Amino acid sequence: MDYSILLTGVVRILGLTALVILSYSIVIRTFSKGWKKGAAVGVLLALGGILSMNDPVVIAPGVIFDGRTALLAIAYPYGGPVGTIVAALLMAAYRIWLGGVGVVPGLISIVLICTIGFGVALIPVRKLPIGLTRSVVTGLLASLSLVSISLLPHDIVATIIGFPLVAVVVANVANVVILSDFLEREKSRLRIMRALEHEAWVDPLTKLQNRRAFDRAALRAMNDNKSKAAHCSLVMIDIDHFKAINDRWGHDTGDMVLADVAAIIRRNVRITDVVVRYGGEEIVLLLTNTPQNVANQLAERVRSEIELASFSTELESVSVTVSAGVASLNGQHTSMEALLKAADKALYRAKTSGRNRVEVA
Ligand code: GH3
Ligand code: MG
Ligand code: MG
Repeated sequence: MDYSILLTGVVRILGLTALVILSYSIVIRTFSKGWKKGAAVGVLLALGGILSMNDPVVIAPGVIFDGRTALLAIAYPYGGPVGTIVAALLMAAYRIWLGGVGVVPGLISIVLICTIGFGVALIPVRKLPIGLTRSVVTGLLASLSLVSISLLPHDIVATIIGFPLVAVVVANVANVVILSDFLEREKSRLRIMRALEHEAWVDPLTKLQNRRAFDRAALRAMNDNKSKAAHCSLVMIDIDHFKAINDRWGHDTGDMVLADVAAIIRRNVRITDVVVRYGGEEIVLLLTNTPQNVANQLAERVRSEIELASFSTELESVSVTVSAGVASLNGQHTSMEALLKAADKALYRAKTSGRNRVEVA
């Protein structure tokens, strides 16, 4: 056997594996979840499998190895049911199109590998942790699909038994180990990136967006098409006598009240509205496409809901009220700075004229 040909063949498969890993990283960044992500992963694995079928490593005359087994074995854990079905159907269609004596065993092995991949995915992670052992088990079990070659003519089967069979199994296991390890790294890299992104924009106590997020949203709102920006409104809300809540009930209760107030506000806005913890107990709503009267109604609804709510501590229930200032983009206030200033002024007026009220700029 020519080992240099074998080596270059293995390197080709590794190159293809690297391409699959790179494309997977793009796919999971493009489609965050759902059937579209599954289908995209399925297409990607199928393309890898088809390319690999076109360019197999010849281990012995009539005995070939390609990356199909490993790609199908990991279809379920990385592509879910949709990804597995898409990958299997595309690879099966291609195998039928290729034709030859291996069509039936080829199709049987595709079904077997998918079933094995699904079966391994059912083993709980605490029993078989994600990592080398799980990948080796997946690779070994997926190699069971080689029983399908027993359907081939006897003279071909005879040439496979022995070294070629062992070589194919080892190559399958190694391929699953490499693929799973890198795909897992990609997944955890993306998870960490999303968590950091979340931390960069969200306030941990109130789960509202922070000031950095406000600046970004404000810039977008102002750059947005002029007609939308023209209806942009701002509501500035501040809890009344919040210092007294802290003084009387303690800082922890203050934190709890603040988080609950934030939750009430969040419940009252649309998904497109931006709710920001602007300062200590000051919350700003950036309402795009909202005229002043609608913003005023929203502020009034929030004010009255908070007034009626009771925030329970271990001992007693606490009540709070809020004051709010509303301002909208118009001929007078044409920039976000002007809008903030106007809302702040209106809020100050609400405070000085008795609190627990909404004032419009
Ligand atoms: P006013 O009606 O005039 O707004 O009175 P106030 O007491 O709410 O106003 P002031 O601005 O004097 O006090 C705000 C208080 O909010 C002071 C600060 O200790 C408290 N505060 C700010 N951030 C937090 C927080 O994250 N948790 C808690 N528990 N308190 C906070
Ligand atoms: Mg206050
Ligand atoms: Mg304040």
